[in-house]
Amino acid sequence: MFTATPSHNGYSKTQSLLHESFWLDNPERPSAKSPVNQDIEVDLVVIGAGFTGLWSALEAAIENPNWKIVVLEGDRIACGATGRNGGFVSASLTHGFSNGLSRWPEEMTELLRMGSQNLEEMGDRISQLDIKCDWLVSGEIDVATQEYQADELQQVHSEMNKLGVSAQYFTAEEIRARIDSPIYQGALFDPQVAVVDPARLAWGLARELERMGVKIFEHSKVIELQDSGTLVRAKVGAHWVSGRLVVLATNAYPPLLKRLKHLIVPVYDYVLVTEPLTSEQRKSIGWLNREGVGDSGNQFHYYRITEDGRILFGGYDAHYHGKAGVKPEFDTDPDSFARLADHFVQTFPQLAEVNFTHGWGGAIDTCSRFSAFWGKAHGGKTVYVAGFTGLGVGASRFAALTSLDLLQGRETPRTKLRMVRTKPLPFPPEPFRSWVIAWTTKSLQKADRENGKRNLWLRLLDSLGLGFDS
Ligand SMILES: Cc1cc2nc3c(=O)[nH]c(=O)nc-3n(C[C@H](O)[C@H](O)[C@H](O)COP(=O)(O)OP(=O)(O)OC[C@H]3O[C@@H](n4cnc5c(N)ncnc54)[C@H](O)[C@@H]3O)c2cc1C
Repeated sequence: MFTATPSHNGYSKTQSLLHESFWLDNPERPSAKSPVNQDIEVDLVVIGAGFTGLWSALEAAIENPNWKIVVLEGDRIACGATGRNGGFVSASLTHGFSNGLSRWPEEMTELLRMGSQNLEEMGDRISQLDIKCDWLVSGEIDVATQEYQADELQQVHSEMNKLGVSAQYFTAEEIRARIDSPIYQGALFDPQVAVVDPARLAWGLARELERMGVKIFEHSKVIELQDSGTLVRAKVGAHWVSGRLVVLATNAYPPLLKRLKHLIVPVYDYVLVTEPLTSEQRKSIGWLNREGVGDSGNQFHYYRITEDGRILFGGYDAHYHGKAGVKPEFDTDPDSFARLADHFVQTFPQLAEVNFTHGWGGAIDTCSRFSAFWGKAHGGKTVYVAGFTGLGVGASRFAALTSLDLLQGRETPRTKLRMVRTKPLPFPPEPFRSWVIAWTTKSLQKADRENGKRNLWLRLLDSLGLGFDS
């Protein structure tokens, strides 16, 4: 069990962090692009330059070389979740195997096939375009830190086997021989996960877009969308950017369409990065293959090794700030940083002397079913996609392809999926929303303390197919 109250040691270790995403703190970061400074009319307007927007623009440009395409970014490329995440690229399109199986059992085989194909195609695109982003198909190890979690992982393993998914179960001894943590009780290895430097991937996609003639505007926040019959008009400052078609890829940010207000909530997640480990420190933990690692509580950590040998360690806390939504002041949280530093040492006591250099937070677009949903607006000229709930680095490319199918009115295996045709149940309006989320979070914490035992409230939510996650 991880300690909930941050210690003095945790605070002192995280006092002098640089409060910026490690990925964005890179001299390779491209200089700022100019904002919209005139009215523009194009075939496709993409709003948001995170992975969803960038993949949408790229796949559209490849498919339709004659289209005029612009990307409108309110701040900087990858400044949202895309430049702040753990860099795990899962083949899963459904926020993990178990979530997918419980919601769409009848199409799980197809979802698994499409997810594998998406991961493979993503890797192919990255190498075709020669994007240097430390793409490594390392696999992910989900570790049990309590005995009941080891039983659950074995159960998931057998369900995966039934559907022909290759995964491997490790006993406590086997996993500790591979990655040496005294708290590991067992583990499940999923080979279909890559790790990546997400910012370098996003900048590489942007570079390719510009090479193909797509114009990207930064500091160009859309403040209003209007349907003008044949076009959709996006207002940016005093100018209008009009498109025959629009992809709305604004993730956890305040939505431009009212209907999205009740379908997603922004949930903050925090991350630390250590200084590069010495070879002695590295030897003390094993971990030769740079796999992504996630632990298995309701409040879970995720961690991985960067290209230059640091450990990125994030997760556990998931903060919802009510009506305040997404704000720069939520990007840092001393308590969450201190708690993470403590949990890092509980996971790897042999690294107690290691210091942290970066600490940041980012908003996750949580929806009640934990995986992306799509919809149309403005008579089908606009398609929106959101709701990745913390597992969108890989799924965003699938989401982009699906959005382009929907925009062009194509019936494809993607658009036939029930996952694509249905929406999550909405969150209740405030002030009930804050109350429900706080109560659910408390219940999940209690379940983690009590061997996974879910109380009446969580069992009710489970039976309705509702949840809260990051
Ligand atoms: C801390 C953290 C860790 C995560 N870890 C992982 C992980 O390891 N693996 C994984 O798969 N997923 C992870 N995720 C989720 C993942 O990062 C996202 O699902 C993914 O990057 C998809 O992002 P996106 O493009 O939809 O959104 P974003 O990257 O948030 O992009 C949305 C963009 O839209 C812009 N925008 C918003 N409103 C407007 C407007 N009105 N006008 C113009 N522009 C606008 C924003 O500025 C932003 O750049 C994590 C997320 C966070 C926050």
